[in-house]
Amino acid sequence: MTDKSRLGIHEGQIGPICDFCGSRLTFGQSIPIDSDFACFDCYQEVTSASSSTEGKVVTGLPMK
Ligand SMILES: [Zn+2]
Repeated sequence: MTDKSRLGIHEGQIGPICDFCGSRLTFGQSIPIDSDFACFDCYQEVTSASSSTEGKVVTGLPMK
């Protein structure tokens, strides 16, 4: 169970606080690293992972 002191309200949702920069996040935005939560930017810094979500054109899949 997450420690309540590490939760905040962000965009109307309860969610964790980034353990690295203190940003409030929603659970959807947070990325767990061991027992810590990180925002996407910190996750990339901490893990030196880079985004693999470069634009990829998928035909026949309309998304609006
Ligand atoms: Zn952060």
